[in-house]
Amino acid sequence: GEPDCECYACYAGSDCSELLPDCPADADGGDPLFLEPFWMQRAESSAVMVSGWHRMSYQITTGTMLSIELEKHIRKLHSVIRNANETGKFILFGDGSTQLINAAVHALSHKYSSSPTSVVAAVPYYGAYEAQTNLFNSEDYRWKGDAFQWKNTSDSSVNSIEFVTSPNNPDGQLRRPVFQGPFAKVIHDHAYYWPHFTAIPSMVDEDIMLFSLSKITGHAGTRFGWALIKDEEVYNSMKYYATLNTLGFSHESQLRALKLLKVVLQGRGSDMFEFGFTTLSDRWRKLSSSFSLSKRFSLQKIAPRYCTYFQRIREPSPGYAWLKCEMEEDEDCESVLRGAGIISRPGSVFGAPNRYTRLSLIKSQDDFDWLLHRINALVAQEAIKSI
Ligand code: PMP
Repeated sequence: GEPDCECYACYAGSDCSELLPDCPADADGGDPLFLEPFWMQRAESSAVMVSGWHRMSYQITTGTMLSIELEKHIRKLHSVIRNANETGKFILFGDGSTQLINAAVHALSHKYSSSPTSVVAAVPYYGAYEAQTNLFNSEDYRWKGDAFQWKNTSDSSVNSIEFVTSPNNPDGQLRRPVFQGPFAKVIHDHAYYWPHFTAIPSMVDEDIMLFSLSKITGHAGTRFGWALIKDEEVYNSMKYYATLNTLGFSHESQLRALKLLKVVLQGRGSDMFEFGFTTLSDRWRKLSSSFSLSKRFSLQKIAPRYCTYFQRIREPSPGYAWLKCEMEEDEDCESVLRGAGIISRPGSVFGAPNRYTRLSLIKSQDDFDWLLHRINALVAQEAIKSI
């Protein structure tokens, strides 16, 4: 029968429980809902209540906009997981790590110089670096695209800022900077440097490291990220940016982040990271097995690796599949998939050829199951055609 109200996309029926058979599998976007079941099991212990009179001021205590208690828990999280060295680093919060991306570019760019600082990232890179840098269109910096290409065509005395995303979005590889030298500055985006997504081979210790609550606990909507910063001047410059940009950080977000991290830290994070790793490695295994039958499509290769957090060699569990269409005629891999009812994010968004496309593996279980169903149907067509 007709539903009383509008059903969520792809569902129909009086209680919205019928999945429409021609519904596309949406594997675009980076919404980390794979952790939702973990939080459902902890509905009460993870809840936050804020009274109407609480935290009304711009400041938390006189002169500070950052919760000291939250900062302590972030430091504790890093020292328990041993993914990044927080000792001696300044911590700045951000409205998502998205805000910190441009704050860092602002702080590292050469001010009032005759030529703007070049901002680069090795292809394939997370598209927001390019989009944001171009949006702000500053005289102090310019987006120059692929780090490898730029290295071959410019001299090493030019000021540069390189984004190094490790593990990388979209392909999940651990990365090192392409540029070295006195004029090369680096922003290390470690949004995915957590046991859900990658082995932690060592504790990283870089000058600027960005992290995001979105990819740790899955609370992308809380809009909370942070930077670990070695240099005081860079820290002050990023803080100045944030002060002008948003005049502080939502206190409600900070309260929620604190509550969530407290829950995570009970049991030294192992409940959540085991859950995240098990979920994502299971998805990767299933996806790899589906594509192993295909000559038309190939996935990125990620080797099992020793993880200092789990203290064992662990299977891959990347957040995204970086899919390549192998056939000459399949130049536009995103549209090949779209034809098979699968929505993905084309290579061009990551500065890469459209022969590549990205599938998100961090969404809800329903999203993943439907994606796998569509992929199995697509790969099965190959077998039919080859008969
Ligand atoms: N960096 C990378 C590499 C990302 O993939 C994302 C989110 N997709 C972000 C930063 C931004 O995360 P947020 O603003 O939610 O903290």
